[in-house]
Amino acid sequence: MQQIHHYINGQRCPGRSGRTAPVFDPATGTQTSEVLLASTDEVGVAVKAAHDAFDSWRRSSLSERTKLMFNFRNLLELNASEIASRITAEHGKISSDALGEVARGIENVEYACGITEHLKGSYSEQVSKGVDVTTVRQPVGVIAGITPFNFPAMVPLWMIPNAVACGNTFVLKPSEKDPSATLLIAELFQEAGFPNGVLNVLNGDRVAVEGLLEHPQVSAVSFVGSTPIARSIHQRASAKGKRVQALGGAKNHMLVMPDADFAAAADAAVSAAFGSAGERCMAISVVVAIGDAADPLVEAIRQRSCGLRVGPGSESASEMGPLITREHRDRVSDYIGEGIAAGATAVIDGRESQLHQHGFFLGATLLDHVTEEMSVYQDEVFGPLLSVVRVASYAEAMQLLTANPYGNGAAIFTSNGGTARRFQQDAEVGMLGINVPIPVPVGNHSFGGWKDSLFGDAHMYGPEGVRFYTRAKAITSRWHAATDGDRGVDLAFPSTS
Ligand code: NAD
Repeated sequence: MQQIHHYINGQRCPGRSGRTAPVFDPATGTQTSEVLLASTDEVGVAVKAAHDAFDSWRRSSLSERTKLMFNFRNLLELNASEIASRITAEHGKISSDALGEVARGIENVEYACGITEHLKGSYSEQVSKGVDVTTVRQPVGVIAGITPFNFPAMVPLWMIPNAVACGNTFVLKPSEKDPSATLLIAELFQEAGFPNGVLNVLNGDRVAVEGLLEHPQVSAVSFVGSTPIARSIHQRASAKGKRVQALGGAKNHMLVMPDADFAAAADAAVSAAFGSAGERCMAISVVVAIGDAADPLVEAIRQRSCGLRVGPGSESASEMGPLITREHRDRVSDYIGEGIAAGATAVIDGRESQLHQHGFFLGATLLDHVTEEMSVYQDEVFGPLLSVVRVASYAEAMQLLTANPYGNGAAIFTSNGGTARRFQQDAEVGMLGINVPIPVPVGNHSFGGWKDSLFGDAHMYGPEGVRFYTRAKAITSRWHAATDGDRGVDLAFPSTS
């Protein structure tokens, strides 16, 4: 059985814990390799490598970092199809989607290529006579990144480029379900010329994560994953005095007003609900049909969903691939059953699709007349299941959205600019789309939710990423000219006059 190794201090490392986890091809249901699961001692080895590399890396020039980041960007471009094929082989998403993920990851490397601009700092001349103040931003130290299965390339690339460009070193703990794409990225990073130890990849599970949270030389933690784990990571890392940003799960609503273009709204709903088999934190999982929108909209979504071609992600004809594991596929199936038992109407029941027997496939499901009390509405299902909730008014739709504990993304489809603007002002979410269903901000903005979708106060990548990976230092300096004369002893509190 092929083994997926750690990557520490610029080289592949065999495991010492004796523990491994199986990695599957979700399209066939067969195990293709096993991944090493690190012990607490191995966490120590990876953190030591990052810590040893830190002092020299933080002193590297911005132009050197920029040059290496450009090299890294070019290598990612050159190897995009290999990274994408590793994603498809272990995650299951279709090839074009995997390539899209790589492209969105590269955006963040490009942003980090501008680090000379992002770290310019600020300067105030003559705040008092002969006194100037400069604020600079300096790196934090060793950063631990912990990432989810659903974007094995993009989410690590939300973190690594800015963290490293700011002068930090990094230990990444990717998802144990699909780690191969992440390891290739680490090898390309090394090939770009970064010194040993600047980026280390430690495979593992809860043991590795807990080791990173406990380690005194880890200064900050960037986490992306489900809400219960995000909440606990935030609490534990904060209790240890670490800086932490922990992005959690989602339940993204798409409001459709009666004045919307229903064809465009249905296209968007189907793409955003069933793309990547619904395993996206920015997937639309609830369509809120307002007033007269419901009947024509549900019919338009039905027409577009019932013919979706479900199959292996590596086949060009496939539009939707399998789910990540058999257990997850079965859990999503259970939610469909619970929704129907609670009174939802199955416009399309994905469990009835006769799909490849051995892979973890499930057809697209459309449930209408879903209500707030149903588990299918309350929980993050994370599968190809779109719920339609019917409400009478915009006000009712907003009550629903506001009451929901998640606040990652939301969208509105309308032809009325006034309604859109009101929504923009009122929706309690971190990312919002107006006639756009998956509003993932581009790399020069930042990504993050509100409420139970993010614990901590910094969003990820872009300007907020640079802020998270640096700390401010304000320097007040006085240089006397010979002509200024002596000020003498003065015990009063310094003032600026
Ligand atoms: P997950 O929370 O199960 O795992 C995320 C990471 O945490 C993995 O590296 C995993 O090994 C580790 N982990 C799992 N259980 C742990 C535990 N008990 N203690 C410590 N570490 C643990 O998430 P997942 O299933 O890999 O990914 C899907 C989830 O991630 C969904 O909830 C999705 O919404 C969310 N997600 C959120 C965003 C966002 O930006 N908000 C982006 C992508 C995914």
